[in-house]
Amino acid sequence: MRTDRDYSKLLVPGLVDFHVHVGERIAGFQLRDGFADLSKVKGLAGIGVFVTEEASDPLSVKLARMRKDAARNYPGKVFWHLTPVQTVIEDLIPLLAADTDLKFYTTYKPAGLYRSYAEIERWMQDLEGIQPRMLIHCEDDEIVSESSEKHPFRQPSDHCLRRPELAELKAVERILELAVKHDYPVHIVHVSAPRGALLIREAKKHCPKITCETAPHYLLRNEKRLQGKNAHRWLCSPPFRSEESRGLMVELAADGYFDLIASDHCPFSNDIKDMYQNDLPKVPCGIPGLQSMISDLYLDLVLKGKLSPEQLIRLTMTSPAALMGLESADQYQLSDLISQASEPERSGNYSTC
Ligand SMILES: [Zn+2]
Repeated sequence: MRTDRDYSKLLVPGLVDFHVHVGERIAGFQLRDGFADLSKVKGLAGIGVFVTEEASDPLSVKLARMRKDAARNYPGKVFWHLTPVQTVIEDLIPLLAADTDLKFYTTYKPAGLYRSYAEIERWMQDLEGIQPRMLIHCEDDEIVSESSEKHPFRQPSDHCLRRPELAELKAVERILELAVKHDYPVHIVHVSAPRGALLIREAKKHCPKITCETAPHYLLRNEKRLQGKNAHRWLCSPPFRSEESRGLMVELAADGYFDLIASDHCPFSNDIKDMYQNDLPKVPCGIPGLQSMISDLYLDLVLKGKLSPEQLIRLTMTSPAALMGLESADQYQLSDLISQASEPERSGNYSTC
């Protein structure tokens, strides 16, 4: 059903993107966008940015540097998601503030980011008194390893078989158990499997502190994009899912299963991705999305009657702002934010915002 309404004159508080990778190196690769690039996005009122500790760059030093970089180059509000790798709890606690929380991964062993469920539970216990929110990337590493062994990475679409929905479901289930057991504020990032969203809704009944997000690509794209020309440039984890899953995800979004939609903006240059075109396990995973998120959701979901404009505003503006305490008095016309529609092939490949 297509609506006849044009909502482009609606006044909105501005995009607040909870999940943005910008201005850092990930697994040895420099991201394509810096804070100055984000300043070009009109109506971007706030961002949640990841700071991942590296062997050569202690978390405290890296956070201080990124704070300075953001203050100099990006006029909007910033919240910081911290991933300690070597930093121990005594040194982490002084870094925690009103504008920070934590991010852990149940996968990515080679990059040194992997945390076992037992480790994550220990962090919950050790942080019991202050309970900073914990963002969790949920893909069960054992299932990913087994699936990857079964399905060698010969073509980009193998990514879907190597990181199946089952891996996400297992990790989501385990993390939710821990959140409920310790009454801990856990935020599940980039939910891509519909059954994961169902599990989260059930767990919320026992622990209302649990929140979750999905990303635009799980609502708008499917695994077919990982076939054909330049498919390696579209690799991200979790991977795009089946058309059936994508359709269900849209229905769940409309039914209020997600607290927010965040882009998981994670752009790498084509040069870097193409360098590993014939060595797929080495292609850095991540795609951009921040610059076209509102346009894409508006054109593909709101105008087609699948999501109401109020839902779009809640999921991409007010709800993430409330979660990060970034509310601002700014107002924009929705048309200002949807003028940045980008041609899909181009937006998937790189970004300078
Ligand atoms: Zn991410």
